[in-house]
Amino acid sequence: MRNAWHLGKIFGIKIYIDSSWLIIFALVTWTLAGQYFPSQNQNWPLLLNWFLGITASLLFFASVLAHELSHSLLAIHQGGKVKNITLFIFGGVAQIGEEPDKPLKEFIIAFAGPLASIAIGIISGAIWWFFHEVSLPLASIFRYLAIINIALAVFNLIPGFPLDGGRILRATIWGFTKNLKLATRIASISGKVVAFLLILWGTRLIFSGLTLNGIWMIFIGWFLYNAATSSYRHLLVKDALREVRVEDLMITNFDTVPPGLSIQQLVDDYILRHRDRGFLVIEGGLVQGIVCLEDVKKMPKERWGNTTIRDIMITKNQLEKVSPGDDAGVVLAKLTAKNIHQIPVVQENRVKGILRRNDILNYLQLHTDLGVKTN
Ligand SMILES: [Zn+2]
Repeated sequence: MRNAWHLGKIFGIKIYIDSSWLIIFALVTWTLAGQYFPSQNQNWPLLLNWFLGITASLLFFASVLAHELSHSLLAIHQGGKVKNITLFIFGGVAQIGEEPDKPLKEFIIAFAGPLASIAIGIISGAIWWFFHEVSLPLASIFRYLAIINIALAVFNLIPGFPLDGGRILRATIWGFTKNLKLATRIASISGKVVAFLLILWGTRLIFSGLTLNGIWMIFIGWFLYNAATSSYRHLLVKDALREVRVEDLMITNFDTVPPGLSIQQLVDDYILRHRDRGFLVIEGGLVQGIVCLEDVKKMPKERWGNTTIRDIMITKNQLEKVSPGDDAGVVLAKLTAKNIHQIPVVQENRVKGILRRNDILNYLQLHTDLGVKTN
């Protein structure tokens, strides 16, 4: 995770704040203190407006947290695991361990968030009603919270994946058709349509002079578009690699290099000749490590002649490895996350082969292009 601060734990779920959250916190506070609260009463002093602005802004983010917490608690209740909740520039996100395995579960988990927002909105509205003739500053905070929470619920209920409404749509189609892939496809197409409309709307706002709102709208649209695309692709990958094992995709006739070889020789005789990106380093029949194009690139060219593979290789202690029976989908996620291009396949301390990320990707491309399993 990039710059994020750990706030604490609620119900065993770790709460993080991403550094991008500061931007939206500043923006919301500034709008509240500079426009909203002065509009409630023009005679309030500057300091009061800022105090109310910061308070309302913090309560707004507590509302976003409550929204995510209710998704999370329902997910846990349905037998899932929640790793953490992170607040960031576009609101909050709960990292739920596994996607729900039944449409009804997804429906309930997705619906819980907007429901919490509606509940907070109604309660805030009631507090505003009770206090608006007693204390206008206090009532103004809750008036804002009522509006923003209802808006949050309405926005999240827009039926475009991965918004909550899109998940509800997906769960509904999934429940009726029993076809998760079709359901995800329709929900993500509708997610892209929503994203496109937001971008269009944002552009309109910019032309009518509301530049900041317009840019903000375009940003959200762009974020949604990417999320809709990647969540569908994620499902396709998971589907295509179902029941594919590492041993199905690994190569077994791989070249090895001795640790004493110079980098110059490695480049000339192996990398350029074999067009491979990485080689296992073997000495006395045992694996000593792996050397990759990336390790070579880190070394200046003039030192290639007098540096050996032993100096730059990833040694066996630091080496990531997989077993022939491992799930190819899980391994692909690991390789991508750690930016590893190839990984040795080891069974009972013996190297059985090498699995290259490109081989998994090629398999995937073939599979998704042809729409059939190739093995
Ligand atoms: Zn939600």
